[in-house]
Amino acid sequence: MTLRVGITGGIGSGKTTVCAMFEILGVPVYYADDRARALIVENENLRAGITELLGEEAYHPDGSYNRTFVASVVFAQPEKLAALNALVHPAVETDSLSWHEAMKAAGHAYTIKEAALMIESGAYHFLDYLVVVTAPEEVRVQRVIQRDGLSENEVYARIKRQMPEAEKLVLADFTIVNDGTKALTPQVWALHRRFTALSGTS
Ligand code: ATP
Repeated sequence: MTLRVGITGGIGSGKTTVCAMFEILGVPVYYADDRARALIVENENLRAGITELLGEEAYHPDGSYNRTFVASVVFAQPEKLAALNALVHPAVETDSLSWHEAMKAAGHAYTIKEAALMIESGAYHFLDYLVVVTAPEEVRVQRVIQRDGLSENEVYARIKRQMPEAEKLVLADFTIVNDGTKALTPQVWALHRRFTALSGTS
């Protein structure tokens, strides 16, 4: 059986860093946020739905997504954000399911889906196991300031828009502590062995 594993965590927790380590072990990883960005442009049904919801301005004349326009609309109208998510999330779910089926056919013991909003979107319901990457808030803030050049206030504003880490942990089957002190490699390796065993392929 090819298991579906989800990895989530707050901004700057280290989801992408952890997933890169699983990829080194040969595990296929689906980066939901990257795929969402691609599907918004490539998927005709999604494009039509977004245009109907937000108007022609949602896309530039050259067909690329007008992220600035969309952000300004949904920032001012939360109900539009909910409606946009209700279009994008199912499209990503369908796409990730067919990707998972392809990985299953290729004989992988498990696949990983990485998403910032795994719980908020409801996508975690479709997983066999949920892994939450954790790090203290002050560590996450410093990482994002360094990586993105944002101010401390901007990072805290983003954190405030996300579900608190404690609520995510309630739903976690496993956690990875990425506080900058505890080594990541043994934690990733232990989970890799666990999922391989749980899939029944070892
Ligand atoms: P986001 O939700 O913003 O995409 P993320 O959870 O995917 O963030 P990463 O991009 O993996 O987090 O990590 C945030 C930053 O912190 C990156 O620049 C990364 O290189 C760095 N980082 C992550 N983990 C560690 C670590 N254990 N030690 C040092 N730097 C780290």
